[in-house]
Amino acid sequence: QAKQVSRDTYVFHTPEMIERVNTRVEIEKDLRHAIEREEFLLYYQPRIDLVTGRITGLESLIRWQHPSKGLVMPGNFIDVAEASGLIVPMGEWALDTACRQTQAWRKRGLIDFPVAVNVSIAQLKRKTFVQSVETILRRYELPASSIEIEITESLLLEDADLFARQIRDLKDLGLFIAIDDFGTRYSNLNYLKKLPVDTLKIDQSFVHDIDRTASDAAICRSIIALAQNLNLRTVGEGVERYSELAYLRQFGCDDMQGFLLCRPQPQELIERQLNRTFDLHGQASEVGEILT
Ligand code: C2E
Ligand code: MG
Ligand code: MG
Ligand code: MG
Repeated sequence: QAKQVSRDTYVFHTPEMIERVNTRVEIEKDLRHAIEREEFLLYYQPRIDLVTGRITGLESLIRWQHPSKGLVMPGNFIDVAEASGLIVPMGEWALDTACRQTQAWRKRGLIDFPVAVNVSIAQLKRKTFVQSVETILRRYELPASSIEIEITESLLLEDADLFARQIRDLKDLGLFIAIDDFGTRYSNLNYLKKLPVDTLKIDQSFVHDIDRTASDAAICRSIIALAQNLNLRTVGEGVERYSELAYLRQFGCDDMQGFLLCRPQPQELIERQLNRTFDLHGQASEVGEILT
């Protein structure tokens, strides 16, 4: 098929290409509506202390309640949201919603730990970002220390100076700062020295099978040692088996996050978990056995 792009330019598309382009365009169009109609919701997943079994934080994770497709996971739309700039209003919605929920839980005395919000590069790039965080905190009368901002490592390598400034401003306000998916990008440890980071979240690709893969174990152990020397807290992400949990604890990792102990859940379900002490020594080895 030939399609006329401008008066004398023809571009040839294979059917697959048309499909792919339509899909992205469709998602973007859908996303615009979704933002207007507020079709998003937040799930929450606990971060659990590997010594006490108590919750030390909750990570908010966006979901899209699509009118015909059902619950859509962020892996299916975050890329499009970032490429189209729609991540900015979407991220603002997520931050506002997480803060409103945090205020409600704190008022009921249900939490005394921070709630984490994932922030993407397009949000942090904007000069007004820190200001908007401040405005939202004030709106809900929240201390800044009740919120943690999770930033992926890739983001820090793009324009180090601009981001360093934004992160320092967030830290000056009193927010906690976590580096997400740590270890997955080209290593530039320089920012760890320069930035006021509180937490390193070890990427799940290293945690998964840490008990069966010597190189993963070596990487996790090294990240934990590095973090300890820099006085940072560590979180092992994506823990699905007790044996993985045992390795992390043995290496001195502070917290875990993973399907093994608690999946991300909507507000009304996670509320019932908030005061639990989780069992860190279970015998079950498969995720399915311990989900309830
Ligand atoms: P992330 O921030 O690294 O979040 C952790 C992801 O790992 C979540 O996927 C979570 O459901 C999943 N996970 C937790 N435990 C396990 C486990 O034991 N096994 C496995 N296989 N996975 C586990 P989710 O919710 O699909 O989110 C994917 C990514 O989308 C997030 O990765 C984050 O980068 C992005 N994201 C989610 N919510 C937001 C948001 O509100 N704003 C922005 N900008 N990005 C978001
Ligand atoms: Mg995260
Ligand atoms: Mg991660
Ligand atoms: Mg692995």
